[in-house]
Amino acid sequence: MIDPSLDLRSLSVDRIRQDLASRRYSAVELITESLRFAESANSWTNAYLHFCHYRALAAAQRVDQKLHQGEDPGPLAGVPIAVKDVILTRNVRTTCGSKLLENYIPPYDATAITRLEQAGGIIIGKTNCDEFAMGSSTENSAFGPVRNPVALERVPGGSSGGSAAAVAQGSAVLALGSDTGGSIRQPASFCGVAGVTPTYGRVSRYGLVAFASSLDHIGPFAKSVRDAALLLGAIAGRDEMDSTSAFAPVPDYQEALTGDVKGVRIGLPREYFKNLASETGDLIARGVETLGKLGCEVREISMPATEYAIASYYIICTAEASSNLARYDGVRYTTRSSSSETLSDMYRNTRGEGFGAECKRRIMLGTYVLSAGYYDAYYLKAQKVRALVARDFSNAFQEVDAIVAPVSPFPAFKLGEKIDDPLAMYLSDIYTITGSLAGVPCMSVPCGATAAGLPVGMQILTRHFDEAGMFRIADAFERANGAK
Ligand code: GLN
Repeated sequence: MIDPSLDLRSLSVDRIRQDLASRRYSAVELITESLRFAESANSWTNAYLHFCHYRALAAAQRVDQKLHQGEDPGPLAGVPIAVKDVILTRNVRTTCGSKLLENYIPPYDATAITRLEQAGGIIIGKTNCDEFAMGSSTENSAFGPVRNPVALERVPGGSSGGSAAAVAQGSAVLALGSDTGGSIRQPASFCGVAGVTPTYGRVSRYGLVAFASSLDHIGPFAKSVRDAALLLGAIAGRDEMDSTSAFAPVPDYQEALTGDVKGVRIGLPREYFKNLASETGDLIARGVETLGKLGCEVREISMPATEYAIASYYIICTAEASSNLARYDGVRYTTRSSSSETLSDMYRNTRGEGFGAECKRRIMLGTYVLSAGYYDAYYLKAQKVRALVARDFSNAFQEVDAIVAPVSPFPAFKLGEKIDDPLAMYLSDIYTITGSLAGVPCMSVPCGATAAGLPVGMQILTRHFDEAGMFRIADAFERANGAK
C-alpha cells in the first residue's frame, strides 16, 4: 500500500528514484495510485482521452523486477508519463483529438515512446488535444475541451493542453506534447509548467502524426527544468526511421545545470515587447531583471521579420496540413461514412463528417495557397519570409547567446472567448511561431502569476542544438525565482 501522506503533485524524477530505491513504494503501487488520481481528476479537467492500465502496470512490473534483481531500471524508472494523443502507441488507441480516428489502434510505437519505455518511463494515458494539433486552446478537440487545472473556467492553452494540464494537476510527473507553432510552450505558460520545443530534428518524428512536417516537433512537459531536461535526454538523438532526425550527439543535459549563467549574453527583441498585456509584460520584465542579477548581460536586439511570421506560418502550415491530411480518406485508418453510394461520395462524406471546422478551414486554405495560380504568390513568398525569420535568428546569435521573450501576449483566456474568432486565436501564437519557423530550441519556463493567479511563462531561445545552454539559463532562473 502506498503511504497516504504521499502527495503525487510533489513528485519529481529524482524523488521517485530515491523512493523506489528505499522501497518506500513499488513502481506498481505508484502507477496504480497515479492512474487512480488521473482518472478522478479527469472528471474536472478532461486532460486525458484514455488510460492504458494494462500497458502501464506491465511496464511498472518490469521496473520492480529489475529493482528486485539489482539491475539498473533506467533514468526514468517508474515515472508516470502522459502522452499527447497525436503520438502513436502500439495497441493503444490514438485519436489525434479527431472523430475520424476515434477507433484507430496503431500497429507500432513512435520512437519517442520506445525510448521512454527503454528508460523505464511508464505511459499511463493519452492526452486530449486540438484536432490534429491545430489550435491554441484545446477547444478544437472532438472529445470536448480541457479545463485549465489552475483556473477551471479557462483554457489550458493548446494544442497540447491535455499534456500541460496532466502535469499541472499532478497526475503525471512528465508528459510529451507536440509543437508546430507553439503547442508546447503556450500551454506550458498557461498552466504554469516547463515546456520544451527542441531543435527541429533533435527528436525523431517517427510515429508523430503529421500536421506540418517541416515544423513538427515532439517535446517534454515537466514541473521543473531539470525533469524536462532528463526527459529530453531520454528521447533525443538520431533515429534511422526519421531521415530528418539529426546526427548531432546528445550531451548530458544534467551536467549543463550548473546554476552559473554569469556573462551569458541575452537579447531582448524589441519587436516582441509591443502589444503585451501589462501584467504579462511586467512579469517578463521582472524575469529579465532576475537574469541580470544572476550575472547575465542583457541587451536589446532587433528581429525585423517578426511582424510577418504569423502570416508566413499560417500559409506554410496549412499548405503542409492540406497534403498530410489527404490520407484520411475513409479507405485507410479512419472511420468510414456509411451513407455513400459512390467512391467519391464516400471520400467526401467521410471527410465532411469526420473533420472539425478548424481542420476543414486549414485544408481549404492550404489547398488554395498550393494551387497552380497562387503557389508563387503565397506559398513561395511565405517560404522566403521563413528564410528571413531564420536569418533574424542567425544574426541575433552572432551578438547574443540566448533570446528572452514572452510566450503569449496574455495569460490563459476563458473557455469560449476566442473560439468563434480564428484570427484572434491565431494571434496567440505571435511570439512562439518565429522560433518554430527557424527550428531553434525554445522553451517556456514559469515566471510568476498575475494578480488573479494566472501563470505566465517566459520564453528562452538558443542556437540550433544548444538545448544545454537553454536549460542552464532556465534552471538558474527557476532556482532564483523559487528562492524569492
Ligand atoms: N496554435 C498553432 C496552430 O494552431 C500551433 C499549433 C501547434 O503548434 N501544433 O497552428
